[in-house]
Amino acid sequence: MDFTTTQLQRYSRQLLLREVGGQGQARLLASRVVLVGAGGLGSPAALYLAAAGVGRLVIVDDDRVELSNLQRQILHDTDRLGVEKAQSAAQTLRALNPDTEVVPVLSRLSADTVQAVLAQGDLILDGSDNFATRYVLNEACWQAGKPLISAAVLGFEGQLSTFRHGVDRASPCYRCLYPEMPAAGSTPTCRSAGVLGAVAGVLGAWQAAEAIKELLGIGDSLAGSLLLLNLLHGQIMRIRVDKRADCPVCGECVNQSAVQPMGGVADVIHTRGAGA
Ligand SMILES: [Zn+2]
Repeated sequence: MDFTTTQLQRYSRQLLLREVGGQGQARLLASRVVLVGAGGLGSPAALYLAAAGVGRLVIVDDDRVELSNLQRQILHDTDRLGVEKAQSAAQTLRALNPDTEVVPVLSRLSADTVQAVLAQGDLILDGSDNFATRYVLNEACWQAGKPLISAAVLGFEGQLSTFRHGVDRASPCYRCLYPEMPAAGSTPTCRSAGVLGAVAGVLGAWQAAEAIKELLGIGDSLAGSLLLLNLLHGQIMRIRVDKRADCPVCGECVNQSAVQPMGGVADVIHTRGAGA
């Protein structure tokens, strides 16, 4: 691919990276990412993906910008209170990089609509703030054969993983990690318990880095593991996530004898990370 002079300058710092180079940059410009949620996680993720020159960003969000969002949702600003977040995001991202086509989707994902939305992306980035959407996305990615980069934040803590069950049938899914959806109201959320904006920034930026790695096929995927971060105490932990033979989403195709169901780790962390 021939880059314009402007593109050579714009992407010069990542063209220099051996893992990216001209081929990788061309691939990014031809890539499509569906980003669910233009909030605390989606804001930094979308900004870095657009800045990196991802060719198409589909931004799914049905909310409008509120004053209480601006402490962390850095795609939006004070002049845009009341504006649809997906539209506000598109305005910010188009101004950042005209190479990136931004497609706002102003509706909430449901089991009925999710496949049509996922068809518009090579990779799905989950920055949603509720378990219902995460479960819908996880199952839809299995059906659509798409990788899923998932994160959640609460307080000073965050968690992050890549789920490749859609493209690698031996790889665990979100539901292998969290088999049962918590009852509504049973776990704390950012609305009820608070979150530091910078924590959402770290996790959202990290999602963008993992998305770029998956798109380019570079580095070590987080698939099969979960990162747990506590920024208040400067702690980070990476734990293994195994595929569950009895997983209702991805378990059927598994050789039962080859599976080692994970112990209680999922239970320990189940109450964390309900919101963005
Ligand atoms: Zn599973």
